[in-house]
Amino acid sequence: MIEVNLSFFLTAYLLLILAIFFFTWVHIEGRKRFRSLDQQEGYLWQCPICAFIYLDPEEDKLSRCPRCQSFNKRPA
Ligand SMILES: [Zn+2]
Repeated sequence: MIEVNLSFFLTAYLLLILAIFFFTWVHIEGRKRFRSLDQQEGYLWQCPICAFIYLDPEEDKLSRCPRCQSFNKRPA
């Protein structure tokens, strides 16, 4: 018979449940955020350096990230 340490089992079980809740929450929040930005899709930028997502309706080829100040080029 396989012996399973009870405290190890409980810890693993709790971590698994927490992970499921966390990923569900991240998934729902991410979808909400993108849905609200969908209407201005042309202005939506994601910085390749710090992954910050922001709106810049004034620039269409080169935009400056407000968080890390790096220049971002619009992918073709
Ligand atoms: Zn950035």
